[in-house]
Amino acid sequence: MSTVKDTFDSRLLESEERRALRGAVGDLGRRYGRDYFMATVRAGQETDELWQEAGRLGYLGVNLPEEYGGGGAGLAELSIVLEELAAAGCPLLLMVVSPAICGTVIARFGSEAQKQRWLPGLADGSLKMAFGITEPDAGSNSHRITTTARRDPATGGWLLTGRKVFISGVDIADATLIVGRTEDARTGKLKPCLFIVARETPGFEYRQIEMELGTPERQFQLFLDDVALPAEALVGDEDAGLLQLFAGLNPERVMTAAFSIGMGRYALGRAVEYARTRQVWSAPIGAHQAIAHPLAQAHIELELARLMMQKAAYLYDAGDDLGAGEAANMAKYAAAEAGAKAVDQAVHTLGGNGLTTEYGLASLLAASRVSRIAPISREMILNFVSHHTLGLPRSY
Ligand SMILES: Cc1cc2nc3c(=O)[nH]c(=O)nc-3n(C[C@H](O)[C@H](O)[C@H](O)COP(=O)(O)OP(=O)(O)OC[C@H]3O[C@@H](n4cnc5c(N)ncnc54)[C@H](O)[C@@H]3O)c2cc1C
Repeated sequence: MSTVKDTFDSRLLESEERRALRGAVGDLGRRYGRDYFMATVRAGQETDELWQEAGRLGYLGVNLPEEYGGGGAGLAELSIVLEELAAAGCPLLLMVVSPAICGTVIARFGSEAQKQRWLPGLADGSLKMAFGITEPDAGSNSHRITTTARRDPATGGWLLTGRKVFISGVDIADATLIVGRTEDARTGKLKPCLFIVARETPGFEYRQIEMELGTPERQFQLFLDDVALPAEALVGDEDAGLLQLFAGLNPERVMTAAFSIGMGRYALGRAVEYARTRQVWSAPIGAHQAIAHPLAQAHIELELARLMMQKAAYLYDAGDDLGAGEAANMAKYAAAEAGAKAVDQAVHTLGGNGLTTEYGLASLLAASRVSRIAPISREMILNFVSHHTLGLPRSY
């Protein structure tokens, strides 16, 4: 039997099938393109036509099990889909959440009824699910979340109380997968648990946060006060919540890497095109090394980040959750840095045009920084690598 290490070497180069998937998704993305994407943002709308078509073509659910309408492939394929759509100017942030985190958690740990209720719709794009872990008083320290579920003796269900912040896409998602805590009956300690909360649940209140991002997805605060949930809203095992949560967080980091790499590739492509033709002295500006070298550097850094992302996706798809954890964090870090740098350099390359609406790059400045903060900040990844990989002591 081959081991993860043996087979990784042969997977360094992308298979024919994956290259075909890249090509087909890229064609779809370019058919919509940056102009479509930005027009929907300016109109305050969502990019639903693209989402629906990507769903119908099987791209959104490529990682989900075939028996529930998915493509039966893995995170490697799903990250290709997001990277190529972003590289075509259409970075669909909700792909990080709906098929990647929520789809994965339900496919791996959900009950049969939850799988049948959600997976076919998440796969074909007809259903969306948001994900809520961040809390106003916990922020980066998710061990401090206080959203709590207690049993309702009258119904056998749950009563969920807490506050969440910066939760993306709650208004367009049919439900939100909420990370809460329940009390351990033996020790009295609070342990993490996941609940599916349908958007129409009475008492599930959300308020939009005004953001300066230039993206179609909106962010929300959630207010839950004794929101009554049925017993079957709990996903998986009450005693294995942490494990289940981590199973969803690795795909989240890999997909955030895909989001950044694709966005960086899009910006770099526009900058290279511009630098080849824009001439203000005797040669095109791309002939000046001060312009060319940073673009070459951006390309190298995006390629390197993609290699780490592929490693993380490979380990995850091979069932190595622990190995994938470290690689996914490093991939997210590298991709977020490379993506933000590529966008910044692209804007600079275009001079004044870098900031015009016509060229549409300036809006990426804020959007590309999201991955340096969310779902986990660059500092928290550096902390993780310092402590877990290098064995250095903690400061907190
Ligand atoms: C556009 C957007 C979309 C989002 N979507 C979602 C979503 O769908 N679901 C969801 O649950 N959350 C979402 N988030 C929230 C995101 O995950 C958090 O913003 C992120 O985890 C950081 O938390 P915070 O904003 O509270 O920052 P804080 O925790 O307050 O951190 C502020 C700064 O301090 C630094 N810092 C904190 N602690 C340390 C430390 N120990 N060492 C060094 N530096 C430290 C951080 O790195 C950061 O730079 C989203 C955020 C954004 C911006």
